[in-house]
Amino acid sequence: MSTVYSHSRLSSFEQCKQKFQFRYLLEIPEDSEGVEAFVGKRVHEILERLYQFVGRDQVPSLRRVLERYDAEFDQHYDAERIRIVRTEFKRDYYHKLGADCLSRFYRRYYPFDQEETLGLEHHVLFDLDHAGEYRVQGFIDRVCRTKDGTIEIQDYKTGKWVPSRKQLDMERQLALYQLGLAGEYGTEQPMRLVWHYLARGQTRTSSRTPEQLDTLRRDTIALIDEIEATTDFPAQKSNLCNWCEYKKICPAFDGVPPESPS
Ligand code: SF4
Repeated sequence: MSTVYSHSRLSSFEQCKQKFQFRYLLEIPEDSEGVEAFVGKRVHEILERLYQFVGRDQVPSLRRVLERYDAEFDQHYDAERIRIVRTEFKRDYYHKLGADCLSRFYRRYYPFDQEETLGLEHHVLFDLDHAGEYRVQGFIDRVCRTKDGTIEIQDYKTGKWVPSRKQLDMERQLALYQLGLAGEYGTEQPMRLVWHYLARGQTRTSSRTPEQLDTLRRDTIALIDEIEATTDFPAQKSNLCNWCEYKKICPAFDGVPPESPS
């Protein structure tokens, strides 16, 4: 098995097999980007840059952080390409949403010395099995070590929805990253999963037992087996369709998909 899986590849299959086929099997390029993803990308870039400066003992002022955000937003925003689904909101609303996320985070964590940063946009690539047939990769927003020695796997969210405790205790993405980091830091290393809900100014944490991680490993292998054995990719309509970049060519919306290669 040569495919390297990611959390988004797995989630795409679970959400809609048609979308999975368009994106990962037919590799149809996306000709637009949802504004929510656009804002998320800009905020992630700015926080990565902020912690790079912090690592050099050069904590920038909030004003400088926001100036940089404004510049990046303006430079990358292309009205022809960015899709705004919720048309009651305009560009300025989304611009402010990102700025508010950064301001809240900055005020809460300044001077950013709560933990030691070990990695930013840290790439993990690891095997779920001993034979190396089930490979997974991902990028962790920030890996850090707290004062009590715990390693934190931190993730930034710019959406307004904050999942329940139960949902976070079941969440797959950061737990998969924990499996990946165990290869670097050892399985005995205490780790914590941390989500920063920037639009709400809230932080949530969770942790996994070795047994839960083992179950996750086996479940993910089973899901990959299912994906590899799938030959039919039906459309699965949901309220996420409005944000789907393939809606125009989706048969569920009378679109005409391109010819599949034989
Ligand atoms: S529009 Fe909806 S049903 Fe069609 S591919 Fe996208 S997510 Fe799937």
